[in-house]
Amino acid sequence: MDHTPRQATTTGQQFEAGTPLELNAALSNMVSSPTLAINEAVARRRAQGQETIHLGFGEATFPLHPVLRQALAEALESTGYAPVAGVPKLRQAIAGYIQRTRGVNCTAEQVIVGPGSKPLIYALLRVLDGDVLVPRPSWVSYNPQTRLAGRKAIPVATDPTDHHRLTPSALTEAIVNGRAKGAKPRILLVNSPNNPTGSMFAEEDVAAMATWASETGITIISDEIYAELAHGWRSHVSPARFYPTGCIITGGLSKAFSAGGWRLGYAILPGGELGKELGKALRALASEIWSAAATPIEEAAIAAFTLNTDLETYVRRSARLHSYVTHELYLTLSELGIACPRPAGAFYLYPDLAPWRDALARLNITTSTQLAQYLLDTWDMATLPGTAFGEEPATLRLRLATSMLYGSPQQTDLWHLLSQADSLPTPGEAGQEVKLDLPELAKAQERWKEVIAHLNGLSQAL
Ligand code: PLP
Repeated sequence: MDHTPRQATTTGQQFEAGTPLELNAALSNMVSSPTLAINEAVARRRAQGQETIHLGFGEATFPLHPVLRQALAEALESTGYAPVAGVPKLRQAIAGYIQRTRGVNCTAEQVIVGPGSKPLIYALLRVLDGDVLVPRPSWVSYNPQTRLAGRKAIPVATDPTDHHRLTPSALTEAIVNGRAKGAKPRILLVNSPNNPTGSMFAEEDVAAMATWASETGITIISDEIYAELAHGWRSHVSPARFYPTGCIITGGLSKAFSAGGWRLGYAILPGGELGKELGKALRALASEIWSAAATPIEEAAIAAFTLNTDLETYVRRSARLHSYVTHELYLTLSELGIACPRPAGAFYLYPDLAPWRDALARLNITTSTQLAQYLLDTWDMATLPGTAFGEEPATLRLRLATSMLYGSPQQTDLWHLLSQADSLPTPGEAGQEVKLDLPELAKAQERWKEVIAHLNGLSQAL
């Protein structure tokens, strides 16, 4: 293919016409989200018959609840566009849901619905002023979205020895460092329960962070997509409880309702005049990009956010199963001596293989990216490297997602599994030993034992 710029002559004038599909140079280093990329890589491997233990992709995959199936069936004929901010009954239902589940005041006016919380977070980064404080590690999309929004991402250190805690002193240090580099930090992005670490903020840390943000004039975007999936030993507390005037909550259907493909998310803006201004800006941006989320999905989602004991049971049982599977794998890693924060919510583990640095170096592995590639190529195990979450390359942390360890619907009766969930004890609490028969989980546990035995062998030979 000849990429030499062509000289246009048809108009009789000479100018450089470029290639027919010239890319925006400013975005040329953007790559596909690593989490979607690993999922596609696993699908390709499996299509070629290569067995793969899938710890790479965090997707809630329980079957759709019949209440939602019925609601969607009834809404199929709603083919008109919805209002940009969402259908009024849905906004009302979400406001009620937020009041019930977060204990914060919320009116329908404060709710903006969109096609997933991901584009809403991006839209917020575009309409709010300033650069962005991004904890390290944090979800794969925060840094790219910040860059796409034309903002600087300022890393905030977290404490890996203490559930990746975020402290006011680390936040202040990040602001000072950011300002020294010419940045103007005005936004803090946080996520609890957390992807990638599985940790949750303790209530006193949420309060301290919110007080700090309020005193510093920082807007918090609190990504609460996993709020419903707390494992039980730490409660979810929204910073909006302590800082209602400066905290925006985002959430949606993807995790608690296992309906990521429905693409339905919401943002809860602060009340008052400033919140209204923000809502106006967000709606203007949304109106020029996605117009509205899909109308049938919005109408069906009303049922998800309306008080219903069957749905509450479903969500509680999903959370319990995620907690069980994640905790089982955590126990295996701990028995193998791998440092890993005890999971508190969602379906992630964030182990650190630093103790095997020398052994790995013998295999020419010195970065988390190489480590993840090695685990995939040699051990048929898909994971994501810490670099995908903003870590320095030499940090040997990996993110393991446990949500694909239930087996496919063809292999496992997921409704039966959900029905067993209530008999499972809260992880770490004394209770009846209940073990579920999950072959994919057992395989992952065995594979980790083999990997570490191999690395221990290499360490001993050093
Ligand atoms: N935030 C975090 C931390 C996530 O892990 C995800 C999905 O993986 C999202 C947001 C995206 O959610 P949604 O499906 O609502 O766009």
